[in-house]
Amino acid sequence: LLDLDRFKHVNDNFGHLAGDALIQEFGSRLASLLRDKDMVARLGGDEFAVLLDGVRNTAEVDQICERIREVVNRPFEVLGNQAHVGVSMGVILAPLSGTERTELLRKANIALYVAKGEGRDCYRYFSPAMDAGVRFRGEIEEDLRHALATNTGLRLAYQPLVNEQGRVIGVEALLRWEHPQRGNISPAQLIPVAEETGLIGPLGDWILEQACRASLEWPDLFVAINFSPVQFRSPHFAERVLGIVNACGADPAKIEVEVTEGVLIDDDENVRSALRRLRAAGLRVALDDFGTGYSSLSYLRRFDVDKIKIDRSFIQHLGQAVDSAAIITAVITLGHAMGLTVTAEGVETDEQLQFLKESGCNELQGFYFSAPVSATAVSTLAAF
Ligand code: C2E
Ligand code: CA
Ligand code: CA
Ligand code: CA
Repeated sequence: LLDLDRFKHVNDNFGHLAGDALIQEFGSRLASLLRDKDMVARLGGDEFAVLLDGVRNTAEVDQICERIREVVNRPFEVLGNQAHVGVSMGVILAPLSGTERTELLRKANIALYVAKGEGRDCYRYFSPAMDAGVRFRGEIEEDLRHALATNTGLRLAYQPLVNEQGRVIGVEALLRWEHPQRGNISPAQLIPVAEETGLIGPLGDWILEQACRASLEWPDLFVAINFSPVQFRSPHFAERVLGIVNACGADPAKIEVEVTEGVLIDDDENVRSALRRLRAAGLRVALDDFGTGYSSLSYLRRFDVDKIKIDRSFIQHLGQAVDSAAIITAVITLGHAMGLTVTAEGVETDEQLQFLKESGCNELQGFYFSAPVSATAVSTLAAF
């Protein structure tokens, strides 16, 4: 199964006409690659099915898939415009006799979505593990809906952030879900499902509201909240956030918005104006997992942020990978030169702490100081 990946720079006002011309051209490029005994069919939209007959091994399939990508990646001339597109492919290998066709399509479709999920413009072979993944996501979606509707099982944990003197100055809200059957489900598993299913909207609102309410109890601490790129791209994101902050009566100056580079990658004017509006209302913006994405440094100039959080992988490799220390000191120097606060996350050892202090890191967070704890435990801590 093949599906066109439209890239950003395919002009939107190409319109239907151009879209159709592009898809037709895509189809004929596909057909030109195939042998007489193969088959190609357009399934609708920009999705095609290709049947390769008598394939003997995966090497042959690999070759054909690579060839398809190569040919599709060449620029398209459509109505006087140039378009660059990619193609995602899901592959299923099967003996044709005795295999249910709908079952083949279903599996190829799963593999296609995995290919899309893993960055597009690539191909993936179906595996039974993918099938289990789909079932898992379906179950999680249903149970998360229920948890949100009944307000059961979900809660926030809070992990302290300390300044150079070791004083707690803020906490980061982290989602916890006690699933009725599966036990604790980590946010790293849960958030992607919520993003795919649109549940990130209501879930994100719930998280923000909980964190804002909790912040009222801790006037001396800021509360940092994680937002997914999907939330950021939703319409009126900034207004929605400010609406909740105000409704809870939280002090905007005590709320910090954590975003990852994924938010900034699009270079989207909507994202930029959302960031501007949040900062204008007094909230702070921190760039999370800093250093793990692409060309991170250039984002700092284009987007207004207050803080960078150096990704914990750099801190963890201190003392093992030589360049970790160099990267950390460079980021701190650069951050300070740009007037930003620099935080290190994932601090676990005394050695890491000493190095970060000497390098002038402003804020620290990690198991060395405290794991994420309950809201009640924060109140005890904030009393000192
Ligand atoms: P993150 O924002 O980078 O959060 C830090 C993660 O590192 C947390 O994992 C935290 O428990 C863990 N951690 C903290 N200190 C240490 C340490 O010293 N060593 C090690 N090895 N780990 C440490 P957690 O809570 O499982 O969250 C994982 C990720 O899930 C978060 O990464 C964040 O991207 C996402 N997430 C968590 N809560 C939310 C939320 O409310 N909304 C959204 N959109 N994403 C969330
Ligand atoms: Ca498509
Ligand atoms: Ca974070
Ligand atoms: Ca992080």
